[in-house]
Amino acid sequence: MVQHRVIVIGSGIAGASAAFALARRGAAVTVVDSGEAGQATGASAGIISPWASTVEGPFYDLYAAGAAYYPEVIGLLGEAGVERTDYRRNGALLVHEDPARLAEAQARVEARARTAGGVVGEVRRIGNDEVRALFPPLAPELEGVYISGGGRVDGRTMRDALLQGAVHHGARRVDGRARLLPRPQGAPRVEVGSETLEADDVLVASGAWANELLAPYDLRLAVEPQRGQITHLRLDGVDTSGWPSVHPLSHHYMVAFDDSRVAVGATRETGSGFDARVTARGQWQVLADALRIAPGLADATLIETRVGLRPLPSEELLPIVGALPGTPGLHVVTGFGAAGLTMAPFTGDALARSILDGKTVPELAAVAP
Ligand SMILES: Cc1cc2nc3c(=O)[nH]c(=O)nc-3n(C[C@H](O)[C@H](O)[C@H](O)COP(=O)(O)OP(=O)(O)OC[C@H]3O[C@@H](n4cnc5c(N)ncnc54)[C@H](O)[C@@H]3O)c2cc1C
Repeated sequence: MVQHRVIVIGSGIAGASAAFALARRGAAVTVVDSGEAGQATGASAGIISPWASTVEGPFYDLYAAGAAYYPEVIGLLGEAGVERTDYRRNGALLVHEDPARLAEAQARVEARARTAGGVVGEVRRIGNDEVRALFPPLAPELEGVYISGGGRVDGRTMRDALLQGAVHHGARRVDGRARLLPRPQGAPRVEVGSETLEADDVLVASGAWANELLAPYDLRLAVEPQRGQITHLRLDGVDTSGWPSVHPLSHHYMVAFDDSRVAVGATRETGSGFDARVTARGQWQVLADALRIAPGLADATLIETRVGLRPLPSEELLPIVGALPGTPGLHVVTGFGAAGLTMAPFTGDALARSILDGKTVPELAAVAP
């Protein structure tokens, strides 16, 4: 049988998810990555808990579908012999000092839980004692809503697990910067250093760098880099492995990992360009937000600050996923903004079906380019 050949450019969570889904369906996949500083996936917090989001419509639908799909993709990775993903459902904790704000958020989550098929789990209002039993560094005035189905994943481990799964199903990895060489007919060739690759389809999954690749086509997608700085703290000797993620009903959050580590963040610096530095203002903002909510973190050891350039969709605030019109064999998956860890495995699976069947699948109709 002739294998369908697909080149995937970019191995962040978007490219890795699509590569795994394509390879496990029998495609001959080549994944190319240039190792840019500021890969969003490598800096991500890893929260998989969309239900309290105030966003509605197709964005929320994809967000929720992404969270619901996680147990399935973890299972598929297990079947490919990949056991370590660092995905865990420790719950999500919404916190605020204003009971009215919490009641509003709780009503939103409960309404969504009714149609989400069990993945949200239990949703319950809790007082400060229980809030601090679940996440001890939190401030004494905060009350909460606990969502038992909230998940977290280590973005780096998950990305590597998907790539390992793709390789298990025959994918090849190439290190280097890809360039598209358009052809009058058929998919573009892909130049990587001195090598020229050919395939039936090419998928641009290069996050915030998508437009750089599309330049030979005179195409510009509405995506720009948005810097996010996130700081990792260590609470020496404290078992943080069962702590839920914390959401103070704003853009910042905290997420705990197994090794006494708590990640706090993150900045959302629109207009940053491709500047992946830790800045004084960013570091100050992240720590100030975290210590206001969780003063008990004040004495933690600061391990590192990671910086990621989110592929921010600048128009409809929706990702851009599917075949690019007028360019045979060329597809794109980008624009995940602050939600790519959650959305990408589900989207990558749908995109793989669409590439291999040659037609848009219903799940991606709202986000087609
Ligand atoms: C601080 C922070 C926290 C976040 N927290 C969460 C969260 O809790 N939950 C959630 O769901 N999402 C979160 N996100 C969002 C999520 O991380 C992103 O939406 C997602 O990682 C984007 O993935 P991507 O694969 O599109 O891009 P990237 O991860 O940036 O990957 C793009 C890849 O393309 C490669 N590349 C670029 N140009 C080329 C080229 N010419 N040739 C070859 N390779 C190329 C780069 O080297 C890079 O590896 C967070 C993001 C940040 C920054």
